[in-house]
Amino acid sequence: MQIKFWGVRGSLPAPVSSERIAEKLIRALNGAKGVDLDDVFSIQEYVDSLPFEIRGTCGGNTSCVEILANGHRLIFDAGSGLRELGLQMMKEEFGQGQGEAHLFISHTHWDHIQGFPYFVPAYIPGNKIHIYSPKLDIQQKFATQQMDQDMFPMRLDDMSSDKEFITMPEDGVEIGDIRVDCLLLHHPGGSWAYRVRAGGKTLVYATDGEYQDLSQEALQPYLDFFADADALIFDSMYTFSESVSKEGWGHSTSLVGVDLSVKTGVKRLILFHHEPTYDDNKLAEIMQKTSQYYSLVREFGQLEILLAMEGEVIEI
Ligand SMILES: [Zn+2]
Ligand SMILES: [Zn+2]
Repeated sequence: MQIKFWGVRGSLPAPVSSERIAEKLIRALNGAKGVDLDDVFSIQEYVDSLPFEIRGTCGGNTSCVEILANGHRLIFDAGSGLRELGLQMMKEEFGQGQGEAHLFISHTHWDHIQGFPYFVPAYIPGNKIHIYSPKLDIQQKFATQQMDQDMFPMRLDDMSSDKEFITMPEDGVEIGDIRVDCLLLHHPGGSWAYRVRAGGKTLVYATDGEYQDLSQEALQPYLDFFADADALIFDSMYTFSESVSKEGWGHSTSLVGVDLSVKTGVKRLILFHHEPTYDDNKLAEIMQKTSQYYSLVREFGQLEILLAMEGEVIEI
């Protein structure tokens, strides 16, 4: 199973500012003493050795994760990252109207659907786009953001691919030999986590969820759902201190992600839905503190902790 991140931010897109890029350049040049700057290979080697917060960025697009498994393409959420994924898909069979994709929507807050009107494959006749959500009126909700030309120039009906809106059944769906289940998370208006099982591997996509009641009884449905996942993509939007002041906003922290992963034998915890006001330095700091916390609560086994970064590919 291949996982690719096209959008990792929460709430709204957060492009890197010129000020932050200049800061990265200053840090990189300041650390380049001894590097042969006349030799492009030495420069490349030096750049590759830099931590991500200097060399690049986590990315600014909102939620969109692509899964390729057993010859099928599954997409989780249609945040602004979906636009670039769509452009990539157009270079493949979707450009000829011969593509098929399965799009799973966690919920319809803007940051999870705002990329759909810019999803070019959905405009090409012949492409098949299956859109899944446990919400009964998912088609209506998608149509609302393209209701009239005051909102967006093209209506949902103007997108001439073969679009099928599917109410996700409680007992899950099967796409070939891939199984997808869902679970309601605590979030204003509700958000659904998805668990994908294919070829003996399990991925859980659990964004926009808050875990207010940490009693065993309250956590049990989540523990069962996350159990033994090879990768858990987890809403870790806030730092611990910010989560206290934003209780009830429907988001979680990396520390809760570690606790739940340790309890359930998750192999890789992927921190996701980054707060748009957190820059790359802050996200690097969160990663460091999360690793420190894990070393305190570690029991047995080995949990790998990763930061979701736009453009990154992970194989499980
Ligand atoms: Zn969100
Ligand atoms: Zn939300």
